Amino acid sequence: MDVQSISELDPAERRALFERDAGLEEIRDDVAEIVHRVREEGDVALREYCRKFDDVEVGNFDITDEAERAYESIDDDVREAIETAADNIRGFHQRQVREDWSYETEGRELGRRFYPLDSAGVYAPGGTAAYPSSALMGIVPAKAAGVDHVVAVTPPAEQINPVTLAAIHAGGADAVYQVGGAQAISAMAYGTESIDSVDVIVGPGNRWVTAAKAEVRGDVKIDMLAGPSEVLVLADGTADPERLAAEMVAQAEHDPHAAVVTVTDDEDLAAAVAEEIDAQAGERDREEIIRDALDNEASGVFVARSMSEAALFADQFAPEHIYVEADDEDALLDRIENYGSAFLGPYSPVAAGDYASGTNHVLPTDAQARLASGLSVDTFVRSATVQRLSEDGLSELRETITTLADREGLEAHAHSVDVRFEK
Ligand code: NAD
Repeated sequence: MDVQSISELDPAERRALFERDAGLEEIRDDVAEIVHRVREEGDVALREYCRKFDDVEVGNFDITDEAERAYESIDDDVREAIETAADNIRGFHQRQVREDWSYETEGRELGRRFYPLDSAGVYAPGGTAAYPSSALMGIVPAKAAGVDHVVAVTPPAEQINPVTLAAIHAGGADAVYQVGGAQAISAMAYGTESIDSVDVIVGPGNRWVTAAKAEVRGDVKIDMLAGPSEVLVLADGTADPERLAAEMVAQAEHDPHAAVVTVTDDEDLAAAVAEEIDAQAGERDREEIIRDALDNEASGVFVARSMSEAALFADQFAPEHIYVEADDEDALLDRIENYGSAFLGPYSPVAAGDYASGTNHVLPTDAQARLASGLSVDTFVRSATVQRLSEDGLSELRETITTLADREGLEAHAHSVDVRFEK
């Protein structure tokens, strides 16, 4: 890998780094057609798409019992790993559940109450690889939020990955269906004969899944449009190049379109990381995917003139994951606001959060971290406000309300206040 200096980046290179996009535009029309047909034709269209895209003739979409059997029959060590991860994810997300609150001031009692959505649909990807961890990341927070009916979908296959099915069961899904891609998203958004519609659809997937979520957004709530994985490694001269390279290579193996970046103020470290990345990539099973990701225009090893400039670069990049290894990691992170999830210090690899520490791995990519948050209990909750005014409280506000109502030409509003004092 080459090392580049931040100060020498031209505007096109900066745009490639800071204005990443998921490339959904080119498949938009095709996805709209799939979504529309499933909405109109239900199971018939679902079966046709399973045949066309997954090469599977699906009889019964419902595989809830199969998921339970998979859980019972997988190896003990795998079941234990799933349960440990699920427990930690549950612990972190249960702490996010909000308490209703209220306060009183000048005769007004005002409060906010929180209600879980009734139903949620979790997409567990499963086309080219299996992602049991993603199933847990969607299902466990939904259940922690108090969602009554949680549905999981995963693409059909000759033999659906039993670990994914086991994780879906362990997470606590109430129903499981074998259907993937854009057709699965449409089925959960609008319902078919076999699959009920849900209030919110969450979970990562490939471009067809993501483009379908964009298509149904508005008719149903969605978590976010998550694109390929990203990591930004922020390090000073005290960091270890081997660990930094391992972080880069690990996220690169997710996807040929992954964006992996290191930024440091230390030229020697940058050179050592670049060299180490090349060496480690050659030793990994998924070398081809890794090398494609490293070649991306949004990937690279960069040298800044100072750690302040490096931190500013990280903030502008707004990565999905940020890994910080430095003399004072907290001080560096304090300079940055735009990131999905931060990993501080030599013993906090991103893989810890990907699988098992408890935080969620469904996070904003493509610089959306500037605007959005990762999947959390909040995704499955809506809030409402509640108030009670005393006679004195309303009297205090009477003139303010009637003055504004009159100016808006809404005389009946003013009357609804006055009538309470005219009896
Ligand atoms: P997937 O389940 O997302 O997609 C498989 C489905 O895509 C198939 O069932 C099929 O219906 C559909 N499809 C495939 N080719 C198509 C075509 N030409 N036209 C229309 N539909 C088509 O599984 P995948 O493909 O393995 O992708 C998984 C994705 O999830 C990867 O991009 C991975 O990076 C991402 N992922 C992200 C996270 C995260 O947290 N960000 C976690 C896990 C996985």
